[in-house]
Amino acid sequence: MPLNSKQRMHIGFDDTDSTRQGCTTYVAALLIEELEKLGVNFLDYPRLVRLNPNVPWKTRGNGALCLRIEYPEDVEEELKQRTIDLIEAHSDLDWKGTDPGIVFLKRAEVPQELMAFAKKATTSIVTLKEAMQLICKFNAEALGYNTQRGIIGALAAIGETFPEDHTYELIAYRTAENCGAKRKVDEASIFKMDQALQPYTFNNVDTEKRRVIITPRGPDPILFGIRGETPEIVKKAFGMVKALESVERWVVFRSNQGTDAHLTHLGALSQIQPYSSIVAKGVVCRKPEVVPVRHVVFAIKDETGEVDCAAYEPTGVLRKIARSLVVGDVVEVYGAVRKASKNRPLTINLEKIRVLQLAPVVLHQNPLCSKCGKRLKSMGRGQGLRCEKCGDRYSDLVKVEVGLPRELKVGLYVTSTRSQRHLTKPLRRYGLEKHGGAGVGMVKEWHSSTLV
Ligand code: ATP
Repeated sequence: MPLNSKQRMHIGFDDTDSTRQGCTTYVAALLIEELEKLGVNFLDYPRLVRLNPNVPWKTRGNGALCLRIEYPEDVEEELKQRTIDLIEAHSDLDWKGTDPGIVFLKRAEVPQELMAFAKKATTSIVTLKEAMQLICKFNAEALGYNTQRGIIGALAAIGETFPEDHTYELIAYRTAENCGAKRKVDEASIFKMDQALQPYTFNNVDTEKRRVIITPRGPDPILFGIRGETPEIVKKAFGMVKALESVERWVVFRSNQGTDAHLTHLGALSQIQPYSSIVAKGVVCRKPEVVPVRHVVFAIKDETGEVDCAAYEPTGVLRKIARSLVVGDVVEVYGAVRKASKNRPLTINLEKIRVLQLAPVVLHQNPLCSKCGKRLKSMGRGQGLRCEKCGDRYSDLVKVEVGLPRELKVGLYVTSTRSQRHLTKPLRRYGLEKHGGAGVGMVKEWHSSTLV
């Protein structure tokens, strides 16, 4: 091997932040700059991997990060130490529930088993033991703090190679002195960008409420994040959005956001597992009811079982659709499975509904008079019908079924933008899915800092 040959490594990390401070993507932004100082090359955009949105111990969006790098062999120890120091320095280690994890995997390719682990971590619950077994098997190095749970996310981020669909997010960060204050961005510029670049950027605004949704609300350092189909488009969008406060740095991440990667398609309702997100087909078997506070609940069944489905108030359009379902409609429901409790059966919290088939809605009406066309009146139980206009009697006629038109149309309905999960594929992305994973090459400038 030549002296100081180039080596490849994956660095995964997770669970550095708390609800009071920090953001793991910001740690990634700082780490990228730190590693560049050592002559490290990036083989891919940093990966922002959203894992199972139903894990009970997540802080916010269950995001984990991975950097794929190439480096001169002689900086290996130094780059690992700098990574550890930086992550330690920017983790809220005193906060209960912040359990950072770092994993270094020195391999060019990601083993299949790690890909499968990432898939499992995105769709269900995995254990630290499973993660540690894989870490030993593939000679990776792991470092965990507090309960060490972050090692799970760190390893899953390494295993997620986005073999199929993926998206990009450009995240712009605020300066330290502005963190905690109201975010200052020209909202009109965001609406304009959304219109100009649709459908190639998504989830910029909530059109129902006319509200900007690229700016988070908490004390974290994110000013805004723009999601889209390519690095070029999110950079173009960034150029169109007017920040009214300083942007300290920005980074383009590759991500599984907006791809529905969390959903498992089930063949039967009996296969539903708590803490997963599923797609399942069934027939509406209990009519929608509005329950406090303005949620809509109905039930579907198939030959293997029955399950409640809930459209919560913030789901907006979805709640309206759920309300207009009737018993007998055939639907495909998409959503997170909520465990049964004392007062509530197993429930699917709806993210989408695909209406497949509409049941006829019929009204039982008296027929029309064959002479004058007026609707006949009943003369009493078992006594036939009579026309009030021409007086004719019809002893042998009975009520007839009249089909009522349904306002609801067959098709796919998605929860309002404001209540979509990071992983939910928005309507705007249908037809834009990428097949066959990431292309080659990176744009020249995919991150920048005003401080270096
Ligand atoms: P943020 O999005 O702000 O980074 P977060 O919502 O990602 O925060 P974390 O603080 O990362 O939340 O906490 C999630 C924790 O759950 C991590 O420790 C991660 O390792 C672990 N975890 C993630 N997915 C799974 C899973 N499928 N099964 C078990 N544990 C998981």
